[in-house]
Amino acid sequence: MTLFEKKRILITGGAGFLGSHLCEKLIKQGNDVICLDNYYTGSKNNIYHLMSNENFELLRHDICFPLYVEVDEIYNLACPASPIHYQYDPVQTTKTSVNGSINMLGLAKRQNAKIFQASTSEVYGDPEIHPQNESYWGRVNPIGRRSCYDEGKRCAETLFFDYYRQHKLKIKIARIFNTYGPRMHPNDGRVISNFIIQSLKNKDITIYGDGKQTRSFCFVDDLITAMLLVMNTEDDFTGPINIGNPDEFTIQEIAKKIIELTNSRSKIIYKSLPEDDPQQRKPDISFAKEKINWEPKVSLVNGLKKTINFFEKILKV
Ligand code: NAD
Ligand code: UDP
Repeated sequence: MTLFEKKRILITGGAGFLGSHLCEKLIKQGNDVICLDNYYTGSKNNIYHLMSNENFELLRHDICFPLYVEVDEIYNLACPASPIHYQYDPVQTTKTSVNGSINMLGLAKRQNAKIFQASTSEVYGDPEIHPQNESYWGRVNPIGRRSCYDEGKRCAETLFFDYYRQHKLKIKIARIFNTYGPRMHPNDGRVISNFIIQSLKNKDITIYGDGKQTRSFCFVDDLITAMLLVMNTEDDFTGPINIGNPDEFTIQEIAKKIIELTNSRSKIIYKSLPEDDPQQRKPDISFAKEKINWEPKVSLVNGLKKTINFFEKILKV
């Protein structure tokens, strides 16, 4: 029998969409969790239900500034993730990924703590290969509107690897593909939240471009399972490792599916495609299957039903 080892875990961006689910999971396992956030896009509502738990601690802090706490593990999730949010203050977005990573890596170094980086499929940019595997270096515009996020996350990966090579730090990099589920921000402008809210209100569904661009959507529960598996790999495993759901859909298909599941009277309208919007995106998860024995279990329809349920409650429709 192995005894459960209680860890002190810092989650930056813990009051956000993914962070709040991660806090919940790690608390359930009996760990001590410090949830750090500056509430830029996150909300106390997301972690309200955890606040009375004696193993849960809330810390208002911006990771662009140094932090001194005692921890065994760090999950670095702090960073706005939706295009609307990360483009609102692009300089702050880059600072969060770059200065924030330096601060969190410095903390990990002082504490000899393991550190996980929530990287992104955006490091592949608008890709020339399909599906994208971890050895692909990507095609990212360095000066476009998405660059603050894409290049910030790419630089964060560089910093993580340099701390690994230079200081022998235990790092884990996961490249997360589009994820959805309850607690997505209702105004984050992302496709799933937009379409669900528009459908529930019987308003026009806004497809950008011709709707033939593709994405692959992973339900949040599957993603959190993978994050924990990645963190618990052997010490010299660094990643990067793709996590996402390889089922690929056009944006048009997503719109139709959401209209059907919500019994909506919404009509589809077409708007111009945002700058540098990737044409297709689908993770190659062969490495995740082999390394952490993981693949997503929740189908798009089941995940959408749970997400629709969440939005019905918060919109009170
Ligand atoms: P989110 O916006 O809901 O969460 C990010 C959290 O970080 C928020 O609570 C925000 O307030 C906080 N934050 C932002 N800047 C901060 C700073 N300087 N200091 C402290 N806190 C700060 O986004 P999410 O969808 O939960 O994404 C979490 C992480 O996962 C992000 O790093 C994102 O880049 C990555 N990711 C998400 C997706 C996705 O589809 N959701 C895909 C790829 C990567
Ligand atoms: N999209 C859309 N209508 C919307 C919101 C998004 O057609 O109301 C498109 C967007 O142009 C992109 C895809 O849906 O092609 C996914 O957008 P999202 O912002 O969710 O994620 P990302 O582009 O970062 O993958």
